[in-house]
Amino acid sequence: MRRISRPLDAATHAEFAFLHLPSRSELANFVGFESDSLSTEKEVVPTEEVVPTEEVVPAEEVVPAEEVVSAEKEVTFHDFAFRESILASIEEAGFVKPTPIQAKSIGPALEGKDVIGLAQTGTGKTAAFALPIIQRLAGRPDLGALVLAPTRELAAQITVMFNQLGEDSGVRVATIVGGVPMEQDYAALSAWPNVLVATPGRLNDHIGSDNVFLSEVEILAIDEADRMHDMGFIPQIRDIISVLPRNRQTLMFTATMPDDVEQIARKSMKDPVRIQIGVTAPAHRAKQELLEVAEDDKPRLLLKLLGESKGRVLVFLRTKRGVDRLARRVDRRRHKVGRIHGDLEQNERDRAIADFRDGRCRILIATDIAARGLDISNIEHVINYDFPHNAEDYVHRIGRTARVEASGLATSFVTRSDRRAVSEVRRLIGDKLPRTVCPEGHTPLAEQSEPERKSGGRGRPGGGRGRSGGGSGSGRSGGRRRRR
Ligand code: ADP
Ligand code: MG
Repeated sequence: MRRISRPLDAATHAEFAFLHLPSRSELANFVGFESDSLSTEKEVVPTEEVVPTEEVVPAEEVVPAEEVVSAEKEVTFHDFAFRESILASIEEAGFVKPTPIQAKSIGPALEGKDVIGLAQTGTGKTAAFALPIIQRLAGRPDLGALVLAPTRELAAQITVMFNQLGEDSGVRVATIVGGVPMEQDYAALSAWPNVLVATPGRLNDHIGSDNVFLSEVEILAIDEADRMHDMGFIPQIRDIISVLPRNRQTLMFTATMPDDVEQIARKSMKDPVRIQIGVTAPAHRAKQELLEVAEDDKPRLLLKLLGESKGRVLVFLRTKRGVDRLARRVDRRRHKVGRIHGDLEQNERDRAIADFRDGRCRILIATDIAARGLDISNIEHVINYDFPHNAEDYVHRIGRTARVEASGLATSFVTRSDRRAVSEVRRLIGDKLPRTVCPEGHTPLAEQSEPERKSGGRGRPGGGRGRSGGGSGSGRSGGRRRRR
C-alpha cells in the first residue's frame, strides 16, 4: 500500500501576510455582489405610497451597476487565466462577476499560494476555492485535491459546485461522508476521482483502513474551518493533514478565526496570504427569531420589544420615509432614538452613529444600505422591522449583532408578503433559520389578508381576517410552511 504518513512535527511557523485589510467601501459592500457604497445610496420608493411591498423593486435593481462609481478597478472572471470551459461554466452558473472574496483569493490560489479566506456566510467562498482547484486539476487523472467540509450537507453543496463549474473541465468528484453505507464510498473511490470532498470522520476511517491514498494530493481545501472547530473536528483534521504530502497547497476558508483554527493554519500552511472581507461576523452565533405580524401591527410589536430590552437595539427598515416615521413614533414613547439613512447629511449620520456607539441613543433606526459597514460592537438586538428583500442583506444585518460576545438576538418581522424572501434566506443559510412564530396577540400569516392591490391571489377562502387571533401564545403557524 502506498499510503504516506508524515508527521506534522516540522511545521512551518509561517508569518501571516496581511495582504489586505478592508477599506471603508469594502466594509460597505462586502456582502453584495453589486458594487455600492455608503455614498451611493440606493433606496426604494416608500412602500406605503406607491406599490405594495412585494412589488417594490429590490434595491439592487434600482441603480444599474455601471452607474455605481467604484474606486477600485472591478475584477472580472476574465482577469484570471481560466480555461474557456471554466469561463463557460461560470457563465452558465449565472455568476456575472466575482464576489469580493473570490476577486481577492482566486489570483493567489491560482499561483499556488496558500490562502486563508475570511468572509461571512453567503459570500461565495465555495467557488473561491473550487475555481482555482478546477483550473489547476484540469486534465489530471489522479486524485489531486482534497476538500474537507464539516457536514454532510456542506459536502453535498461543495460537490454540486464542483460539478457545476468543473464537469466540462475534467473534474470528477467523489464525496465521502458519514451516515451512508461504506459500499457507496468504495464505488465513489474506485471511479478515479481527482477531487475528493469529505467530512473528516469518515475520511479518517478510510485512511485507517487503507482505502484511500492521499499521497498525490496537491491541494487541500479546508472549508468552514470555524464550524469544523465548533464540531470538534480539529484533531481529526490534524490526523488527515499528517498523511498529506507536505509539499502541497492549502486553502482555508472560514467566517471566523477561533484560536485552534489559527493554530492549524500556523502549523500547516506556508506563508499564507490572508484575505479578509468586511467584518467576519459570526452570523450563526446570533440567536434568530422570526415573528409573524401584520404590517399594521408592526409598531405595536416593536414598542413592546423595545420596552423589554435594555441594551443597544438596531432596527432595519426598507425605506427612508419609514425610518423617519418610525423614529418619531419611538421618540414619542420617550426612547432615546437615532436614525440613519441616505437622505441625511454625512454629519447627521456620523452624529447618529456616535450617539449610538457612546450610549446617548440606545436605539438606532436605519435603512440597510446606510447601515452597511457600521462598525459598532455590542449590539444586543437587531430587529428586521422590514424583512430584507435580498437574502444576503439578511445575513449582513444579523451579523451586526453578536460581534464580540457569542450572543445576540436577531428578530425579524415577517408579513405575508415576505414569505418568498424568507424562503430565499432559508435557501441561503439553511436550517440555521428558525421557523416563524406568531407572538401572542398578533395575527398569524395564515390569517393575514393578502396585501392590498396585489394582482391576482385574492379570494382564497379563509384568507381574510375573519378568525380571531385566539391567543395561542406560542402558536406557530402550524403547517403553513410549505416552502423550505
Ligand atoms: P459561503 O460559502 O461564503 O457561505 P457559498 O459559496 O455557499 O457562500 O455561496 C453562496 C451563494 O452565492 C451560492 O448560492 C452561490 O451559488 C452564489 N454565488 C457564488 N459566487 C457567486 C458569484 N460570483 N455571483 C453570483 N452568485 C454567486
Ligand atoms: Mg461555505
